[in-house]
Amino acid sequence: MTDPADQTLAVRGRVARPNAVAYKEAGALLRAGGLVAVPTETVYGLGADATNDEAVAAIFEAKGRPRFNPLIVHVRDAETAARFVVFDDRAKTLAKRFWPGPLSLVLRRTADCSISLLCSAGLETLAVRVPDHPVAQALLRTAGCPIAAPSANPAGAISPTRAEHVAESLGDKVDLILDGGPCPVGIESTVLDISGETPVLLRPGGVPIEALIKVIGPIDVASAETPNASPGMLASHYAPRLPLRLDAHSVRADEALLAFGPAALAGAAVTENLSRRGDVKEAAAKLFAALRRLDQPDLTGIAAMPIPETGLGAAINDRLRRASAPRDPQEETSSEGDLLSQIGAVVGDKGLITDPDAMAPHLLELRGRFQGQAPCVVRPASTAEVAEVVRLCAEAGTPVVPQGGNTGLVAGGIPFEDGQAIVLNLGRMNKIRGIDPANDTITVEAGCILHDVQQAAEAADRLFPVSLGAEGSCQIGGNISTNAGGIQVLRYGNMREQILGLEVVLPDGRVWEGLRALRKDNTGYDLKQLFIGAEGTLGVITAAVLKLYPRPRARASAFAAVRDLDAAVALLGRIRAAVGDAVTSFELFPRLGIDLALAGVPDTQDPLADRYDWYVLVELTGGGGSDLGEPLETALMAALEDGLVPDATIAANQAQTDAFWRLRENMVEAQKNAGGSIKHDIAVPVSAVPAFIARASAAIAALIPGIRPVPFGHLGDGNIHFNLTQPEGADKAAYLARWEEVNRVVHDIVAEFSGSISAEHGIGRMKVDENRHYSRRWRSS
Ligand SMILES: Cc1cc2nc3c(=O)[nH]c(=O)nc-3n(C[C@H](O)[C@H](O)[C@H](O)COP(=O)(O)OP(=O)(O)OC[C@H]3O[C@@H](n4cnc5c(N)ncnc54)[C@H](O)[C@@H]3O)c2cc1C
Repeated sequence: MTDPADQTLAVRGRVARPNAVAYKEAGALLRAGGLVAVPTETVYGLGADATNDEAVAAIFEAKGRPRFNPLIVHVRDAETAARFVVFDDRAKTLAKRFWPGPLSLVLRRTADCSISLLCSAGLETLAVRVPDHPVAQALLRTAGCPIAAPSANPAGAISPTRAEHVAESLGDKVDLILDGGPCPVGIESTVLDISGETPVLLRPGGVPIEALIKVIGPIDVASAETPNASPGMLASHYAPRLPLRLDAHSVRADEALLAFGPAALAGAAVTENLSRRGDVKEAAAKLFAALRRLDQPDLTGIAAMPIPETGLGAAINDRLRRASAPRDPQEETSSEGDLLSQIGAVVGDKGLITDPDAMAPHLLELRGRFQGQAPCVVRPASTAEVAEVVRLCAEAGTPVVPQGGNTGLVAGGIPFEDGQAIVLNLGRMNKIRGIDPANDTITVEAGCILHDVQQAAEAADRLFPVSLGAEGSCQIGGNISTNAGGIQVLRYGNMREQILGLEVVLPDGRVWEGLRALRKDNTGYDLKQLFIGAEGTLGVITAAVLKLYPRPRARASAFAAVRDLDAAVALLGRIRAAVGDAVTSFELFPRLGIDLALAGVPDTQDPLADRYDWYVLVELTGGGGSDLGEPLETALMAALEDGLVPDATIAANQAQTDAFWRLRENMVEAQKNAGGSIKHDIAVPVSAVPAFIARASAAIAALIPGIRPVPFGHLGDGNIHFNLTQPEGADKAAYLARWEEVNRVVHDIVAEFSGSISAEHGIGRMKVDENRHYSRRWRSS
């Protein structure tokens, strides 16, 4: 007797009309480990018995598909799904509303899940769906097994929406094709991961995200960091052979046009209109078939007109973006080589680093918490070079990570470990383009070191007021991109307040020319604000016009113990009432910070004879002729009499001022000697600082008994570095392993004060999840 699978091997690619005989044959083929192409309402699937490892492996082989891309498993109903995945209440709600239909749910596999692990591609989750197509449903019933079914086309190519599409591309690899006519939805299912706390949209598809939100509330959208958590998340997918150009507003005679709406562009060699009436649902149903018809070898490319992001438009645009990405890995490897040589031709030997040792400092975050990878570090010497490098990268689809002095403490300038992005370091663009003392402005390139800018201002008898611990190595571009703060924000504001104009290279390589030196300019939107604090996500800053100020001629500093934190805030108010904006800095220290500095930092002294719980460093600056010592003394005396300040000392000379600041500048260094430190860069209203510190200190003491808070920093602007030193004698690694847990406790309290979890250091790579978590709270509250 011949095995039924062997019989059909002889006639592979046969197309059968769905009837009882065909279903019976298809069911038998599946149970025997064969491959059957089956129509669903989305696209044609290449089906195999999902519980049979060899059959699932045959899908990958037939499609030439990378193993790490998971497959969706089709089942008859929600009850069947619950045998394979942990089907919680949220899953039940979604299933009730959207199944059968084009929604795939990603859930945790059950402990005894019998589905082939290949379908999960190494993840602990599985994507399941109940299809709505009568042929798919009939086959599920006849076969009696769950069916793993990715789209029935070679990996990365255009998805099939008709039986003949399958026959054309996979005819020799599939045992039987069930012809159920054109697929009504025409675009793959929406993939929603509900295995975690917050639902995450992994792939837009046949069910619009808006419809899902209505049923289960807020949904996150998957980032590039989770590239293969779902089918269809490969960067290059659904691709025709011809290059695809998106958002086309014109078309050439040697191009094919994928049109949308009533006003199709004229002049294309051939045109397919997805929907003349501008209906995204109709467009989705026609998309893949239209792409196939346009993919003609005698043309140079396909131009796609813009399609709105609403409803199924989001899914269509997702497919088109992937279809336009670089194609196969070989092509990418060779194009990476091409890209490096093209970049080398732009920036020369001095501007292109590929030697691993020379690249190393650019790939490691200052505290050693993040180690990135990159094919090269590019150091352009001019705006034109930056623009050309960015343009080349945009064309190649290569991400760019801008980098300044790499002193940001959240790894924003460090590329991911996947080695896809290049690092664009601005260090060679360090010219001061000009100083205009009459206008009180300085125009600098982005790679200028902050300290050099301060010095240049001083040489022109002016002040550039942004000042921070890393000023000897951080760069103006980095300062602008992080909206840096520092020790004089109280008086002069953040970096944002110092900027009159910017020059920026946009993500496609165009230069946005906003390098103006005006203090008044109300002509339209103030676009430069978008780039400030954007951490390089919107463009590469290449130059800036910065404000300068008169240099202070008078200065007075005091180091004061305060009764408690409320007294510290009250003292700030009193001194400001006395001298106004002359209060330039108002910095907070706890006793433990002073103790650690005295024990571990050379050349430090306790400014006061006795020990107190809290201290502030006050600095006043002013113009010529102002006597700041006298009002400072008066304010401190009054505070002394009122019991706010138990003791204080006013610096008699610069050496004493320097000694006060040495304590402040070494607060972080001092903590290093006491073991691990879990850090928070938070801001709350100045008036709320005492309550915040009290609540957060109590909460973390309850979490980790013996933990030693060292909250210090810019009390004058509400930005506290809420650092937490490990309990004495604790294991440092075990303590630091609790970083995220401790962050969550502290940041929850910050959120209750409507505060910021990233006051002056940005989001970078370090706080992406934390930022997402709290911004969702704001959205849903
Ligand atoms: C000891 C010490 C003390 C510090 N004190 C303070 C402080 O008091 N206040 C404060 O705010 N910060 C402080 N910082 C943090 C840090 O110095 C600042 O965030 C600084 O602004 C970062 O500048 P950078 O040139 O090192 O930028 P990087 O670390 O290289 O980059 C920071 C971010 O900006 C982006 N970026 C860099 N250059 C550009 C560009 N030209 N165009 C577009 N994007 C770009 C990067 O991609 C990254 O996302 C301190 C750091 C240290 C080590």
